Amino acid sequence: MSKIFCIGRNYVEHAKELNNAVPSKPVVFMKPHTSLLRENKSFFMPSFSNNIHYELEVVLKIGKNGKAIAEEFAHRYISEITVGIDFTARDLQDECKTKGLPWEIAKAFDHSAVVGNFVAADKFADKQNINFHLLINGEKKQVGNTSNVIFNFNFIIHYLSQYFTLQQGDLIYTGTPSGVGPIKIGDRLEGFLEEDKMFDFKIE
Ligand code: MG
Repeated sequence: MSKIFCIGRNYVEHAKELNNAVPSKPVVFMKPHTSLLRENKSFFMPSFSNNIHYELEVVLKIGKNGKAIAEEFAHRYISEITVGIDFTARDLQDECKTKGLPWEIAKAFDHSAVVGNFVAADKFADKQNINFHLLINGEKKQVGNTSNVIFNFNFIIHYLSQYFTLQQGDLIYTGTPSGVGPIKIGDRLEGFLEEDKMFDFKIE
């Protein structure tokens, strides 16, 4: 069973928009496999939150097993790439953060991990210079470039692999740029890696 890792606060402007400190080490959390939402299936608004936010993120797929991976070899472990959404129940997350509690209920709930169609990672010669964006109802809501991360993909793989054995099929959500916001029933979300549409689904 594959693991789903997520990196929080990996873009300075996003950390600032939520009044979070810019981290000195990657902020790591995980989602269970039941959080995955694939194949452009609709996301059904859950009843436990009044403020579900979208967070568009570049998602890496791990192509082979590894542990304690050196940064210089980390790129060899990325087999495929896409964009996805790290759905977040912002109201529950704020409550958890205030109380200093774990935030799984706000981040790891069913279908909170939307993932687009993967393409081969070697399609991108420079993975630290990829443009990505999110359209909601045809309007550009989030725009990012992977050069703006605090911790680059190779460092993230190196860092995670010190604590967790990375396995073929594991996914890494690499953090969201600024521009996050709430979704509502009826919205259509389209995610792009460069000019290629990777997902297209509705909120119901
Ligand atoms: Mg996120």
